[in-house]
Amino acid sequence: MTWTLFADRLLAAPGRGPAERNVNLEIAGGRIAGVSRSDDRRGSGGRIALPAMVNAHDHGYGLRPLALGGADDALECWIASLTRPTVEPRLEAAVAFGRMALAGVGATVHCHNSLAADRLEAEAAGVARAAADVGIRVAFSCPIRDRNPWVYGDQRALLPYLTAADRAAMGATIPDGAAIPDEMPAHRQVEQVESIAAAHESELFQVQYGPIGPQWCQDATLERIAEASAENNRRVHMHLLESPRQRQWLDAAYRQGIVRFLDDVGLLSPRLTVAHGVHLTGEECALLAERGVTVAVNTSSNLRLRSGLAPLDRFMRHGLRFGFGLDGGAHDDDQDYFRDLRLTWRLHNGTDLNQALPPARLFEAAHAHGFRSIDGGDDYGAVVPGARADLVVLDYAAMCEDFLVPDLDETDVLLTRATARHVREVVVAGRKVVSHGALAGIDLPAAEGELMDRARRVAAITPEQLAYRQRRREAVRAWYAGGHHLEGGAVDPSP
Ligand SMILES: [Zn+2]
Repeated sequence: MTWTLFADRLLAAPGRGPAERNVNLEIAGGRIAGVSRSDDRRGSGGRIALPAMVNAHDHGYGLRPLALGGADDALECWIASLTRPTVEPRLEAAVAFGRMALAGVGATVHCHNSLAADRLEAEAAGVARAAADVGIRVAFSCPIRDRNPWVYGDQRALLPYLTAADRAAMGATIPDGAAIPDEMPAHRQVEQVESIAAAHESELFQVQYGPIGPQWCQDATLERIAEASAENNRRVHMHLLESPRQRQWLDAAYRQGIVRFLDDVGLLSPRLTVAHGVHLTGEECALLAERGVTVAVNTSSNLRLRSGLAPLDRFMRHGLRFGFGLDGGAHDDDQDYFRDLRLTWRLHNGTDLNQALPPARLFEAAHAHGFRSIDGGDDYGAVVPGARADLVVLDYAAMCEDFLVPDLDETDVLLTRATARHVREVVVAGRKVVSHGALAGIDLPAAEGELMDRARRVAAITPEQLAYRQRRREAVRAWYAGGHHLEGGAVDPSP
């Protein structure tokens, strides 16, 4: 199908010059077929088009952690307080993807959250359907983990921090050695990624290996994933050095350095995206850059879980590519991509006379470099003939109502004022995903209502359950406060 999108203003390459005025974008076969000036249509300046935003790291929370009792906290304590119920994967993903689309996101990495490996194939089917229903691009990262379910190190050392009753309740989930009880063997977790890909992969739905993080995967598993990624030319998406405690445990456990270790097992390649990288050293950034790795920066999530600020200046100094993700934890818990982009920009723009993170560089990260985490493509982020027809159109007039000047730089205006409420249209691969500010594919309020109805039936949390989760949270806090992770124990699996 060929159709034409008219834009009063087109920011073909945000931050690299003013918008073009009165533009017709001809769209065919999922690509931009032509960009031309419209002589017969003179717009009011009201709508501005740019490439759709890329969420380079997320988990697709239809049910947000706070709703499940997971108030923000230090990362490890927050994780210990959460138990994610399985309500209806298709519905939950549809709600999550729908919210992202309404915020201007056309592509997202979805690190799937179920930790029940034996349900993953069925859940992937639901997420794939949700992605197709909503219409955004989704990179489905299959979670793989086989160690350290509660803390980094000796799991049994957590027992003294628990009450006798909680010890009994958690006993079965606390392993003696490194392996997680009742978990599908790691080699099967790796193998099933290919069967999920065979069943569901398409241009808009990419399947990736998702080792959750080096502290959560045994060495042999990471090596196996590196081999499988090379053999199948499939991307890998992994959390790395998110919190100070991960830095400390990995430093104690890997004398050669964790990034050097990942390189030794063959995991560092242009096919790899690492999420967070808050605690990467300069030397590690240089090695990652040399291997062509991309980092997904998650500013709000890192602030909310007290992980710190990613060293963007260090990334830029070493030529390490980075994109931006929301990690399901935007600043106001609302997945507002533009507001988070503004926060990142301001936090990293420095105090000098010249900008440390100029808008062109910011948008290059948000578009081109972030998109590498989706399907490895390096052709995203400019609206030119032949480019992917992935666009977001915002109500520009609503941002300028009080202007007394004729022409301000559009990128400055967007970075100062744009939020999700300005998003009017989103186009992905030439298809309208958002039209007149509403989703084209699903009825979001109805889906949210149905999700909440079901969640209240199957996942309502009693005061006793909530109190138990809070005790778990405090036990984990006390364990780390006791410095157990500094010993770097429980690295090697018992044979
Ligand atoms: Zn994450």
